[in-house]
Amino acid sequence: MISLDGKKLFNKIKEELKVEVQFLNKNGLRSPHLAAILIGDNPASRTYINAKVKACNEIGFDSTVINFPSSIEQKELLTKINEINCNDDIDGLIVQLPLPDHLDEDVVTHNISYKKDVDGFHPVNIGRMVLGLPCFLPATPFGIMSLLKEYNIDTTGKKCLVIGRSHIVGTPISILMSRNNSFGNSTVTLAHSKTKKLKSLTLQSDIIIVALGKAHFLTNDMVKKSSVIIDVGIHRVPSSVTKSGYKLIGDVDFDKVKDKVSYISPVPGGVGPMTIASLLKNTLYSAKKVIYSSS
Ligand code: NAD
Repeated sequence: MISLDGKKLFNKIKEELKVEVQFLNKNGLRSPHLAAILIGDNPASRTYINAKVKACNEIGFDSTVINFPSSIEQKELLTKINEINCNDDIDGLIVQLPLPDHLDEDVVTHNISYKKDVDGFHPVNIGRMVLGLPCFLPATPFGIMSLLKEYNIDTTGKKCLVIGRSHIVGTPISILMSRNNSFGNSTVTLAHSKTKKLKSLTLQSDIIIVALGKAHFLTNDMVKKSSVIIDVGIHRVPSSVTKSGYKLIGDVDFDKVKDKVSYISPVPGGVGPMTIASLLKNTLYSAKKVIYSSS
């Protein structure tokens, strides 16, 4: 079994991005600038934002975090988003999810200018992705594709099963994996909560991308020998051996599945770091205007 090391690839990408920033600065251009809006005090959201800011600092990107209390009204939030949309010194804007219940996730994310939508959630970017046009790819699916490419995993003509049909992971990765491209070109099945006989599908699949948000859902008896497993799930569970008092596990029962398969992404250290890597890449593309000409 080969572990798909997202952390190692993330470090490699950070080095490449650092060189890009130095090149921009040498030519009198400012560093790429990522803005992040954090609402409320969800510890997991705070951890994700801290990791994104840390990565920006490491590679020389500028970053701004705007904190709002969980009681913020949607109107006030949209005003702030619009202000950032109009700020030429900011290249990328993300709003950390999940949002408090009174805020409409679709309305909020769709109000971010598609030209600064470095998370790749905006309908314009999703639509352009479906058509194979230049766009900001959704960060997690983009990261998964980069990980598969890095390890030269053959995807053409393979049976790929995606479990979970969320707008941010399952649905877009099913499109990227089925595109008529040098990479992708798999025969994709998209499974969800109403799928019947899921195990018969998992047992036939060469590549399984698991993104349903249920800890240790995919077990040893559900995978065929030598398959490729991508674990997107992230769950914090109590742990007596870590300093923080918790540890992260995925949607796959890693310890029991790993010896049966050819490649598997671990949690932590697999897809998670690749999501941040993709966010940074999209922010650089925005700063360099390689996808959209002006903000
Ligand atoms: P979600 O939570 O919005 O939706 C879950 C999906 O799973 C739904 O489409 C549902 O139909 C499907 N599902 C539920 N039960 C099922 C079952 N028994 N069989 C088949 N399908 C079933 O999905 P999400 O936002 O993509 O999150 C999924 C997981 O991925 C979560 O653990 C989340 O924390 C994690 N995540 C990780 C990253 C990362 O960077 N690693 C990024 C985004 C999400």
